Amino acid sequence: MSYYRIDLVFRLIVAACRMNFVLNVGRRLLSKMRQCSRLRLLYGLCFLLLFIFICTPRRVAGGAGAYPSMHWARGRNTPWTGFQGKCHLPPSPKLKPVNHVDDSLDLGSRTDVKTCTTWGAPIMWDGMFDPDVYDKHHIKMGASVALTVFAIGRYLETYLMDFLSSADRHFMVGLPVTYYVFTDAPENVTGVNLKAGRTLETIMVKRHKRWQDISMMRMETIADAIQTRIRHRHRYVFCMDVDQVFVGRFGSEALGDSVALLHSSFYNTPQETYTYDRQPNSTAYMETGDFYYHAAVFGGTWQSVRNLTESCLRGIMTDKRNGVEALWHDESHLNKYFWLHKPSKVLSPEYCWNFLNGPSREIHVKRLLWAEKHYDILRS
Ligand code: UDP
Ligand code: MN
Repeated sequence: MSYYRIDLVFRLIVAACRMNFVLNVGRRLLSKMRQCSRLRLLYGLCFLLLFIFICTPRRVAGGAGAYPSMHWARGRNTPWTGFQGKCHLPPSPKLKPVNHVDDSLDLGSRTDVKTCTTWGAPIMWDGMFDPDVYDKHHIKMGASVALTVFAIGRYLETYLMDFLSSADRHFMVGLPVTYYVFTDAPENVTGVNLKAGRTLETIMVKRHKRWQDISMMRMETIADAIQTRIRHRHRYVFCMDVDQVFVGRFGSEALGDSVALLHSSFYNTPQETYTYDRQPNSTAYMETGDFYYHAAVFGGTWQSVRNLTESCLRGIMTDKRNGVEALWHDESHLNKYFWLHKPSKVLSPEYCWNFLNGPSREIHVKRLLWAEKHYDILRS
């Protein structure tokens, strides 16, 4: 049983005990009310006040902006008086390296989650940013985005169409996007209706025998594609697994120099649970780290992603020569890379949520969801 499940069961037990207590108190109050009319009036008044308190919208210092649950729009020159949440950074200057659009982030708007890293990168949660500010900035800068995805073997028929059609609705809407689909069966990539401003390129790749190699060797293919095509056409690259579906905005706020994603199973668990590679003879070996990142989504400028993919590939090939394989394949190498080269932006698990995790108080918006896994059929 995972730490998360134990925690969930424990929380349910505590909630059940509390509920029982509240019901008992309620029963006693009701029986007292039946006996005395003044008491009835008093309780009625209390309930009315409570109702008004709950229904009245409360403003955080500076007022709310155009986006729901967002308080960033307090004005650039207003001194920051609000609570800084779980971010240690002073109000200004906030983030390094300086990126003017990220200066619009309200790191204090979410007090329930960590909104920045120790090295000054923002961790993107709903409520911290104004989507319009980001979209306008990136449209003005003429940003365009490459989205790479692999659909090899049965992954094509099982996931690709849902991935692409949902990306069209939610991924970087308003910006020019090219999907780079790497597959062993280009003739089967048919019937995709793309919105204006979106293009698709299908690139034939050979199919490795082992699924571990299909997953790991994506690093080589992406590095090649950046070198031969992407760097001439796009400033930004995102690389994603195909077994997921967009369900909400995955917008230009996610763009940055080097972007990593918090794994939804580990974002709120202790460091001891992180499944880093622990084999001293692997290049992905790590004793300690910052977070546990998920390899299903990473991105950045083409220069950063080229660096990342080339570095991971070097590690993978060295391991192969030494007869060792990292515990979670490319993900282990990705975690090692981001430990040595800190990402400039970190995405919260809103940006890749596992529906099996159940409800979570911190997750106000789901943007990308894991699709159901059918490893028995897909990897055979
Ligand atoms: N993949 C593929 N065919 C395969 C194995 C993997 O196309 O036979 C690609 C696909 O894009 C997939 C990614 O590699 O999403 C990573 O594999 P998978 O999603 O199975 O890994 P997991 O999500 O379990 O870590
Ligand atoms: Mn996957």
